[in-house]
Amino acid sequence: KKLGVALVGLGSYSTYQLAPSLLDTEHCYLAGIVTGTKEKESVWQEKYNIPKENIYNYENFDTIGDNDSIDVIYVVLPNSMHAEFCIRAAKAGKHVICEKPMAVSVAECDAIINACNEHKVKLSVGYRMQSDPYTHEVKKYVREKTFGDVLFVSSDAGYVSKGNPDQWRLNKKLSGGGALMNMGVYAIQTSIYGTGQNPISVSAQEFSTRPDYFMDTDETITAQFKFENGAVAHMMTSHNANGNRLKCHCSKGWFELDPAHSYGPISGRTSNGDVLKFPHKRQQALQMDDFAKHILLDSKNLAPGEMGKRDMIIVEAIYKSIREGGQEQLLSLGDLGIVV
Ligand code: NAD
Repeated sequence: KKLGVALVGLGSYSTYQLAPSLLDTEHCYLAGIVTGTKEKESVWQEKYNIPKENIYNYENFDTIGDNDSIDVIYVVLPNSMHAEFCIRAAKAGKHVICEKPMAVSVAECDAIINACNEHKVKLSVGYRMQSDPYTHEVKKYVREKTFGDVLFVSSDAGYVSKGNPDQWRLNKKLSGGGALMNMGVYAIQTSIYGTGQNPISVSAQEFSTRPDYFMDTDETITAQFKFENGAVAHMMTSHNANGNRLKCHCSKGWFELDPAHSYGPISGRTSNGDVLKFPHKRQQALQMDDFAKHILLDSKNLAPGEMGKRDMIIVEAIYKSIREGGQEQLLSLGDLGIVV
């Protein structure tokens, strides 16, 4: 059986990445859409051969529970709308994929996790890199200590934001925050799978070079994580500087991905002179198939809700460290049961 996926929010990520990827998946397919823009209905219906009864808007969305051809609802809306629509999806009895960042607060992550547990549906976060073969290789180097112990990790995630200053990503009410919410979650993720550990503390700093443009949200943030074994990670995230890199410095060498988290192909090399090379497939197709296999075959959920919540705990600690100028303890992350 192939699972039917309905995309909620037909903006650029749904249009240019998720819908085309769903033509390339083995265990799921694009079965439905949920949109607030009437004109998009017929365009998508025609392009992807979507039956009329599988087209919903934000008002009649809750009746999707009666539609047996939809198994998974993928929420691809501005960050502050993730919680509401994930919870409505869970109440409709559908499995949920929630885009990153999972929500705009830890409390909202908890509400999503609780709703999915209560309604006995599966939940994952749209962390496409968790399904990418380069990520799996990095995790293997860390686990098998191919280059010895990882002692220092450096990771960057950013781009130069231009255009309409009223876009939702620069509006805190809709985005929950700036670069850290949008791109910072990649640097948090690489810091964690680059060391194979959850951090035990973080110190962070915020910088701004274009305050007139970034009036409501953070532009550039740096943060340093400490790990239980003494390892350290330094991350940079920005809406005003390009960054797309992970470098792991180890006791017997190094390995790096550069680019580390764009749509691919990713590129990697090691201190042995090896160049990493894996066949390219859309990460989003791999990600949605991995989640479908989790539902159908009970394989591992590579990006469970608890992982999104863990990263949101770190995001909140980073903002607190910036506000208060100190080091934030993160000692209870291990309780969530998520390692990398
Ligand atoms: P977008 O601006 O292109 O699309 C947003 C969609 O939400 C549009 O269809 C818009 O009509 C709809 N919408 C509903 N209410 C809105 C409101 N009040 N304001 C603005 N738009 C509203 O954004 P996007 O790039 O598609 O991002 C959507 C989500 O996907 C975000 O959470 C983002 O972080 C995530 N995303 C993830 C990746 C990834 O690689 N995993 C990449 C891009 C975006």
